[in-house]
Amino acid sequence: MRTRLIAGNWKMNMDRHSGAVLLNELKGILTPDRIGQSVSVVVCPPFPLLGLAGDILGSTPLSIGAQNMHHEKGGAYTGEISADMLVSFGCRYVIVGHSERRRYFHETDEIVNRKALRALGSGLTPIICIGETLEEREAGSTMDIIERQVSGVLEGFDRAMLDRVILAYEPVWAIGTGKNATPAQAQEVHRFVRDLLDERYSPEAGEGVTILYGGSMKAENAYDLLSEPDIDGGLVGGASLDARQFTGIVDAACRAREHQG
Ligand code: PEP
Repeated sequence: MRTRLIAGNWKMNMDRHSGAVLLNELKGILTPDRIGQSVSVVVCPPFPLLGLAGDILGSTPLSIGAQNMHHEKGGAYTGEISADMLVSFGCRYVIVGHSERRRYFHETDEIVNRKALRALGSGLTPIICIGETLEEREAGSTMDIIERQVSGVLEGFDRAMLDRVILAYEPVWAIGTGKNATPAQAQEVHRFVRDLLDERYSPEAGEGVTILYGGSMKAENAYDLLSEPDIDGGLVGGASLDARQFTGIVDAACRAREHQG
């Protein structure tokens, strides 16, 4: 059975004090009894708060992820953060290729691919983001864009490596807009990605890959999205900054999993 996972991307929000408050709230609410074994929960704070997150969440079932990393192993890259540094701060996951990185920092599929390879090499699980813009959707080219991104970000990945990544389908028009994809729209793309992976690797290869949906997921819409057969979890931005919202999404993921058996 695929991993069901909810990841909170705090983006460039929170400071030492407000971050500690939120981490302690999550720790208090998302107890092992509440989330059981069925859903993995990941919190991705900004880099300066990773140590704090490690201290607060260390003995809980919640894992820590980063929002980005550099693709080189180390060296003269002022201001950058390496995969090994993230590991040393207790990170297990790293988001790569988020649309905001692509848009504001000009990251290409090739760079995202190099980051994902480096993450795996350091023992991190990359959460690799893909997704079309509104113009691309309206032009009817969503599946072409997704196909191009999937082949670009997974260049050089063999079947064993595929099993160690998480994909996140995040339609750019749904991120931070309050306008989520409908469950049917998201399901269609998730199914398409699995079929592509089956074609490229081997029949059934796509069935084993965890694929998250991201884009204005909230406690109120999470259950319907997460009940779709090919949507394994959520990458949550805005709603991850509010303990009640985020834990509501985790609860919805637990209910969806129970329902699917
Ligand atoms: C995100 O940043 O990955 C995201 C999905 O943001 P939001 O939930 O705010 O749309």
